[in-house]
Formats: sequence, structure tokens, C-alpha cells
Amino acid sequence: MKIVSDPECPLCGGVSSRDDAFFPEHTDGLPVDPVRRLLHPAGLHWGCYIPWTGRPEFARRLFARLVSEAAGLWGCAHVDEWVAVLVSVTEPHALQLILAETGRRLLIAPADWERWRLAPESVAPHCHPVEREALRQALVPVWVRFPDVAALVVGTDWAGSERYLYE
Ligand SMILES: [Zn+2]
Repeated sequence: MKIVSDPECPLCGGVSSRDDAFFPEHTDGLPVDPVRRLLHPAGLHWGCYIPWTGRPEFARRLFARLVSEAAGLWGCAHVDEWVAVLVSVTEPHALQLILAETGRRLLIAPADWERWRLAPESVAPHCHPVEREALRQALVPVWVRFPDVAALVVGTDWAGSERYLYE
């Protein structure tokens, strides 16, 4: 028996898919029935999500929640109103970028940090163009502070993380 049905866009009620929609990690604040959401994962069509008037507030709430939940195995190198850059406590240090524009969390390899800085057109190739542009703009001042991963690790605030367990 198939329990979970096709993903659904809560903004228009239509069927959505991984190819055309954003699947938020939390759905608090979306106009969606909680029981219905159990059966139909919320996949927001990009064409519905980007122009949605509720997006700034929803994305900001998602951003704040993802940042606050990331303690433990992650330290915080940088957070402002556009982006958070988190560094994993274990080596090789993976990076987590949380984007306030949409509430997306990206896990990236350390090598991508410098690769993207040197070629900003290659930033987040699998993300929506709006996210890619927002990320490029948000990262410019962060790249100035932290040109490479070594600088990120040195500059990371490890308070609240479990890094001491791995040293
Ligand atoms: Zn839709």
C-alpha cells in the first residue's frame, strides 16, 4: 500500500516534483493542513514560491530555525541577515551554507569554498537562479573575511559545539 502520495504545492494545490519545486526542511508557517501534509510532502513550485508574498517571513523563520538547530556538530564562522556559514567540528571540515532568501540549507565540500570564490558564476549549480544570485551577493563580504577554508576554521566560533570532543 502506498501511504505517502505525490508531493503537493501548498500555494496552488498542484502536484509538484523534485525538478520544479523547493522542499523546505520545516513547514511551519505554510498554508497547509498538517494531516494532508503527512500524506503529501510540501513541494513549493518555484513559480509559486519565489513571488509568494509570504516568502520573506517564511524563509526568514526557516533560516533562523536551521541556524539555531545546527549547534553540536557545527561551529559558526559567519551569520548575518542573508547567509550563515557553518563549519563541521570534524575534519575534513564540511561547510553548511544557510540562505535566508529561500530558507535553503546547502552542504558543500571544503574545496567548493575557494572554487566558488575564484569563479562566482559556478556557485551552487543545482540551486534556483534567484538563490544563486542571492548567495553570490551574500558571500562576497564573507569571502573577503575568509578567503579559504583554513581561515574559516580559525575564525569559527566553536562555543556551543562539541568540537572539544574531537580535539
Ligand atoms: Zn504551486
